[in-house]
Amino acid sequence: MLPSFEELKKNTTCPECKGTNITLGYTFGEGGIHKKLNVLGMDAYRQVTHTTMLVCKTCGYVIKAFAVEPEKLP
Ligand SMILES: [Zn+2]
Repeated sequence: MLPSFEELKKNTTCPECKGTNITLGYTFGEGGIHKKLNVLGMDAYRQVTHTTMLVCKTCGYVIKAFAVEPEKLP
């Protein structure tokens, strides 16, 4: 089950700059999480889910990233 991102935002301090202005970011498209496959003896990757990230608005540090559908990963 995914955590409450609003709660996480409130309770997170940036480890880089100690800032508390944390916002949410999302990856889509090529930034998604892929799983590794083997196709005809070669490595291949297929996207299975996206991520939700906690990002420091002060310095841009990505503090945490969560797979949106972790159950899809092998
Ligand atoms: Zn920061």
